[in-house]
Amino acid sequence: MNFLDKIISVFNTHADKSAFCIQNQYYSYADLLIITASIQTKINNHCPGEQNIGIVIKDDIETYASIFALFFSGKTYIPVHPGYPAERAGQIIEQASIKYLLSKTDNTSYPGVTVIATGTSPEENNGKISLASFPLDTTNVYILFTSGSTGVPKGVPITYYNLDSFVKAFDALGYKTDHNDRFLQMFELTFDLSVMSYLIPLCHGACIYTIPDSGMKFMNIYGVLETHKITFALMVPSVLANLRPYFEEIDLPDMRYSLFCGEALYKDVAQEWMHCVPNAVVENVYGPTEATIFCLTYAITEPDNIIAYNGIAAIGRPMRGMEAIVVDDNNRQLPKEEKGELCLHGDQLTPGYLNAEKTRDAFFELDWKRYYRTGDIAFRQDDGNFIYCGRTDHQVKIQGFRIELSEIEFHLRAITGSSNVVALAMNAPNGLMQISVVFEGAEHNMEPVIETLKTKVPPYMIPAAVHFVTIFPLNTSGKTDRKALQKMIA
Ligand code: AMP
Repeated sequence: MNFLDKIISVFNTHADKSAFCIQNQYYSYADLLIITASIQTKINNHCPGEQNIGIVIKDDIETYASIFALFFSGKTYIPVHPGYPAERAGQIIEQASIKYLLSKTDNTSYPGVTVIATGTSPEENNGKISLASFPLDTTNVYILFTSGSTGVPKGVPITYYNLDSFVKAFDALGYKTDHNDRFLQMFELTFDLSVMSYLIPLCHGACIYTIPDSGMKFMNIYGVLETHKITFALMVPSVLANLRPYFEEIDLPDMRYSLFCGEALYKDVAQEWMHCVPNAVVENVYGPTEATIFCLTYAITEPDNIIAYNGIAAIGRPMRGMEAIVVDDNNRQLPKEEKGELCLHGDQLTPGYLNAEKTRDAFFELDWKRYYRTGDIAFRQDDGNFIYCGRTDHQVKIQGFRIELSEIEFHLRAITGSSNVVALAMNAPNGLMQISVVFEGAEHNMEPVIETLKTKVPPYMIPAAVHFVTIFPLNTSGKTDRKALQKMIA
């Protein structure tokens, strides 16, 4: 059974059960089916021949139902965040050739795009969804855009086959989840961890609890975990950094699975967290958007026995249908225990970026297998566990969001005309990462610069601090010494 058949079967068997709890309002599977069917009819009436459809993503049932309507029609969804600068949304719309956007209200407008309002006047339909027949392996299910080092977001298409392989590999992990579970969905829909958080519960007839985007998001998360007795939560480790001051008071006995992904999970924090979730299996899972959500997992069984390197928990072993190897600069596989670049192959791997040139840079063939170079430094232990050691490039994670520091530098150079600017990820006193930028030479009036930057990049890419230094320190090869610069401004 593929994941579409599973969802249809859940609609039939769990109609009365709650599918979603969004801002304290519950929607049953029967409600979800009616809204999804209505949106599917709208799609059929307004843009039957279009493959790529954008969705203006919000924390509402119409947004999720739009995704599911596109699933059943065999179409490709592209999330467009309403809070992103118009220029960035425009680049996404152009790259993905989006002509139609689904949005709850029709008060949104993007040049050259027709908005289909999903929240008004339900379209006549018989409350039934129709399942299109289409090739799973060549049809994209979604395209997500990640930060690109040249100032343009990078489109990662994922096929129905990739996503179905993830669902099958997830099932093979042996988690005991069913319709009684309550799942947390804390992610923006532009981030692929959201896909696990809504799709896995949907395949089991469980209930999905979303987190509103506004306000103190991390405190909202704790509120939802406690109030709704969440049993399964995939979170970014940054959540723990925020909750850590309250660990003593936190007690979540209902949690059965507590997964972390998206950035390094620190061993000491994980150990302390295990006391807050005494009945949960805690796992560190790993994977880039290019390999569909996550594809390596490391189950932490004993708090005192966590495999770690430099305090960072291991990322474990590949899931079913995936393979991981470590290579040197010439794409030659390295033996166990030797550090190199982690590369991935298998059923969850994207066919390639929208931009073919980027695909050529990041993928290679070895022994007739196609591998993706993750940019992560790792090694494989004797026991088969992979150990994460850091990045080969300037990609960083801030609150789980993937950011190319060079993208921030690119825009700041263009805005200020200054060629010497460096963006750094720095540890803030609260233990969270934040972006600082450093200019060499004369000081700029930063207020208008930051205002212009806000029109180019999403809010999470705006620097928290700006510094000016007379001259950048250089390393032995004459390049800017980023580590020394970091020390200079610390
Ligand atoms: P994204 O495409 O946004 O999912 O980001 C993928 C990148 O996040 C990976 O290449 C890693 O650098 C990082 N990442 C994801 N999961 C983990 C993890 N469990 N531990 C350390 N880094 C991670």
